[in-house]
Amino acid sequence: MTRPTPNTWLHLDATQLAHEHRSGARSVVDTIAACCARSQRLQPRWNAFLALDCERALARAHTLEHAATRGRLHGVPIAVKANLAVEGLESSCASRLLVGWRAPYTATAVARLEAEGAVVIGTTNMDEYAMGSSGESSAFGPTRNPWDEARAPGGSSSGSAAAVAGHLVPLALGTDTGGSVRQPAAWCGLAGFKPTWGRISRYGLVAYASSLDCVAPLARSMRDLDLALDIMAGPDARDATCSPTALHESVPFKDLQGLVLGVPHEWRAALTDGPSRAAFEACVEAARAAGARIVELSLPLTRHAVSCYYLLATVEAASNLARFDGLRYGVRAAAHSSSLAASIAASRTQGFGAEVKRRIVLGTYALSAGHAEAWHTHAAKVRTLVCREFDEAWSACDALLGPTTPFPAIRLGERSNDPLSLYACDALTTPVSLAGLPAAALRTPLVEHEGGQLPTGAQVVTPHGADRLALRIAEVLETQLGTQALLSPAAEVQA
Ligand code: GLN
Repeated sequence: MTRPTPNTWLHLDATQLAHEHRSGARSVVDTIAACCARSQRLQPRWNAFLALDCERALARAHTLEHAATRGRLHGVPIAVKANLAVEGLESSCASRLLVGWRAPYTATAVARLEAEGAVVIGTTNMDEYAMGSSGESSAFGPTRNPWDEARAPGGSSSGSAAAVAGHLVPLALGTDTGGSVRQPAAWCGLAGFKPTWGRISRYGLVAYASSLDCVAPLARSMRDLDLALDIMAGPDARDATCSPTALHESVPFKDLQGLVLGVPHEWRAALTDGPSRAAFEACVEAARAAGARIVELSLPLTRHAVSCYYLLATVEAASNLARFDGLRYGVRAAAHSSSLAASIAASRTQGFGAEVKRRIVLGTYALSAGHAEAWHTHAAKVRTLVCREFDEAWSACDALLGPTTPFPAIRLGERSNDPLSLYACDALTTPVSLAGLPAAALRTPLVEHEGGQLPTGAQVVTPHGADRLALRIAEVLETQLGTQALLSPAAEVQA
């Protein structure tokens, strides 16, 4: 039986899809209609979206179909994590407290993609306020991993990852504060990119931990990530922390001749199962075969990264989430409250989920009088040491290569009652976040795991500002490994 034609867009990456739309070889309206229909029908399966707005997307597709100017993402359907503002769409951060909140404006990163012709079809499921590593802490039910529906897709950008892995859209935006794009990329067999902190404007992003938050794309090709970065990066008058320095222009590398890649001993040692170790070693071999010189080095502070990150992130979260009080923002609890304080307490008690409350309590404690010195100040000092450790590494290598996660996708529910074991999923992503460095998450070979085949990933980490270098190296590695065209079984799922 032949595949129905509307589905042929399924396998294309954003670059190719835009090219076909621009040249007139493919109709934007057909693509968007097919993509919306597929997303709607498969929503019960993976729970990737929180809000799908097909009417809006189709109206925009009709406008684009006849537009005189055609951008670099002309007619490309994209999905956006529900902590980014998209005018008119519900951006609830997967929180009961923000149910029904429609953004009155669009985040800069999204607006820049739209200006190049991208069509937002909906906002995606996530861990509430981006706090989580499995996608299970959403108030609207967990997202499922299209590779194995009994497993978590990773988090917190769970819906964006499932939408790309499930071939609902070729490109999606997530955010990466401590690994929320790189980790789901590894668990869903995707390419993901965390830029240098400050490289992409955070205007319109609901803040979780401001000194760590980054807008970050997920895709099925490195060239799509590069394109998205090129479009989104650059100064923004609405975000004073956004870097004014331009991205380096660079053409794709043919090989890695002349480059030195450092493999941190502690990152390699964090891999807990044999198949994951073998997949990572294949990646190191691929780097060697592509001409890179590999050096072993040590980043001993890796073992403190999770505790340091969770202290700093919760402290910032406790402050950032103070605005959600049911008065200025959020759903107000029913009016039985006797006082302003009681009303705020009731709204927050009803509105926030367990993980968010845990973090507010932890962060408030770590910042409280008498304890701040021991916890917050101490963690801030450790962060400085982590940054220095990376600075020293750059004298020995051009980029670091390590696994993205210690193990492949976990089963849904496997760790949900044990927050510390969930935090441990972030052991290899948080050091990079603390130092604000760019990292490209690439696909390494599939592994046999608990009776099934699952994806694994590696990350290429580069110095501040060298965002493109990370992407270029990752692209060569994927080509060498043959994982650049990895398709999830979901590509075969007919909607
Ligand atoms: N898993 C980490 C956390 O829960 C990272 C989240 C993120 O990057 N948004 O904080």
